[in-house]
Amino acid sequence: MSGVNKHFGDLHVLKDIDLTVHPGEVVVLIGPSGSGKSTLCRTINRLETIDEGEISIDGTPLPAEGKALAKLRSDVGMVFQAFNLFAHKSVLSNVMLGPMKVRGKSKKEAQDLAMALLEKVGVANQAHKLPAQLSGGQQQRVAIARALAMRPKVMLFDEPTSALDPEMINEVLDTMVALAKEGMTMIVVTHEMGFARKAAHRVIFLSDGQVVEESTPEEFFTNPQSDRAKDFLGKIL
Ligand code: ADP
Ligand code: MG
Repeated sequence: MSGVNKHFGDLHVLKDIDLTVHPGEVVVLIGPSGSGKSTLCRTINRLETIDEGEISIDGTPLPAEGKALAKLRSDVGMVFQAFNLFAHKSVLSNVMLGPMKVRGKSKKEAQDLAMALLEKVGVANQAHKLPAQLSGGQQQRVAIARALAMRPKVMLFDEPTSALDPEMINEVLDTMVALAKEGMTMIVVTHEMGFARKAAHRVIFLSDGQVVEESTPEEFFTNPQSDRAKDFLGKIL
């Protein structure tokens, strides 16, 4: 992202954002509620438009619309706070759908891929259930498998554990840590310090739509530089 600015009416929600995430890098985006973290994530696959600046994925500028946008979007996997699984389809079908519809895979190929990914996130034994029959942690792992089924170049996670009961948070974070260790490029909005410490290469602190601080997790959590970061950490730790 370079020179990215966005407004919602009078609200200047993203201010001159310059951000490069390298292949294999894991970046944690952290900041107060309303600071623009979700909006920033959503601009990366153009769920939100920007007013100024440029966003490129793997060297390709984000197209405004059409097939080119759909293609680039399929390179960006997204996992949200709410799992957004298709309620009337089985877990397996949820994961098979993208590869079949967007990647043109045969049913057999899609099924093999989906089962392998469900295995990887530890819910293969739930494949034939409906999402509502799974726990929140299991559903979120299915959502991760579904995003991975598109073979994305980068994965965005927007507070993936904040809607979960405490005992389910770690199973989702562990899945994400494993993905990070495999070299997946990830942008993760989370306040989970454990995840940041284990998996993040960089922490970016956003406040009022601005990148205020950028450092290693160790540095950020033990020795924040700005008053805004100190104040924020004082509230969450
Ligand atoms: P965060 O994810 O850091 O909590 P958001 O990106 O969701 O922050 O929101 C940043 C600011 O933009 C907030 O003040 C929010 O109310 C506002 N906002 C978000 N989405 C919209 C929208 N679609 N229309 C108007 N304002 C919005
Ligand atoms: Mg948010």
